[in-house]
Order: sequence, then structure tokens, then C-alpha cells
Amino acid sequence: MGPNRHMSVDSRGRYLPEAVGESVPGSESPAGSRSHNPLMTRRASLMQEPVLVLNATYEPINVTAVRRAMVLMLKGVAQAEEMHNAEVHSAAHAHKVPSVIRLLAYRHIPQQSRALSRKNILLRDRNTCQFCVRVFPSSELTLDHVMPRSRGGRSSWENLVACCYRCNNTKGDRTPEEAGLKLARKPRPFTLHTSRQLMRLIGHRDERWRKYLFY
Ligand SMILES: [Zn+2]
Repeated sequence: MGPNRHMSVDSRGRYLPEAVGESVPGSESPAGSRSHNPLMTRRASLMQEPVLVLNATYEPINVTAVRRAMVLMLKGVAQAEEMHNAEVHSAAHAHKVPSVIRLLAYRHIPQQSRALSRKNILLRDRNTCQFCVRVFPSSELTLDHVMPRSRGGRSSWENLVACCYRCNNTKGDRTPEEAGLKLARKPRPFTLHTSRQLMRLIGHRDERWRKYLFY
């Protein structure tokens, strides 16, 4: 199966465009996107850099991209807590680029609110096929319904796993048991603990994130 659009919806049916880990460095450099203008390339990639989002209470709750973080700042929804040593220029102003932002109003984050998306499932499973336990680039992985959809299997955290094409073919419309395959581990939703682990993984290059992630 391929990922489908309505999967970027959280458990309460809200559309969540900026899921945790949406902008993992290196995960979205489409082939052939190299520009002839190095400045443009630099700026475009800068806008995609991950930014740690803190709740009003300084609790880390999400990772977004610089572009989205700056929109939140301009709207007065968030303020920068840490900055990169870089600027982007709009028509009239130079803007410092945030590395960590904090929401000004407290937002209640239910435990199960992590967006169910292809990207997040691959992140949760660390790009590891859950049947042959080998690591693949994202482009060589698909999502497998453990209990096939044709048998009533749902698109949920508990029923979707990262799977290489080979294992996916082998499995077909069968359960792992029927296909003689074994799951590496039982698929679970993101917990706050998992999210924080992932945030550390994403942000390990950025020293400015450390104090918020309790290293
Ligand atoms: Zn496999």
C-alpha cells in the first residue's frame, strides 16, 4: 500500500501538518533538486531546518521547520528561545532564524495526539523493516498493515509498520503468522517518551536543544 492523505490526521480527527520529525535533516532532499544558485539552495534548506517547539511550560512538544516556526512567531503565537547564527531577509527586514521556540499560551497535548503519518511510522520504527529487521532509506520502505485491510485491519499506530518491499511482497494479504513472518516488536503509538527520544535524535546536532530535552 502507499501512504494516503487522511493519515495525517490525529486521534481526534484534527489535521496535523507538522508532525514530529517532519523535517528530519537529510530525509527530504529530493533527487535533482540541486539549484544552480548556492544562495537559494542555502536559504531553502535553512527554512527546512528543524526547530524544537516548547509548550508555554517549556515542555518539548514538537519539532517543526524554520519556515513554520517563523510564521508562528510573526503571528505572535510563539517566541524564540534560542537562535541560529543566521538570518533570512524579507523585503524590509532581516529575521534571526530560530532553533527553539516556545508557545506563549499553554496548549494541552493529549498523549495520543502524535500525527499518524508515514514519516512518523518510519521514525518510530527507525527505518527498520519490522519483518527482516534491516535498515532501509525511506524511499525503499512502505507501510504494511499487519492485519491486512482486506481483513478489516485498520490504519492505526498498532496496525501499521515499516516494511521493505520484499517482505511486503512476501506477506501479501496475509497475517504475519500465515506468511511465516515475525514482527520485530509490537507496534505502539508514540508516547511522550518516544517523541522525546525522537526529538533528541533529530536535534542531536543542535546544542541549543539540549537543556530542553534533559540530556
Ligand atoms: Zn523486510
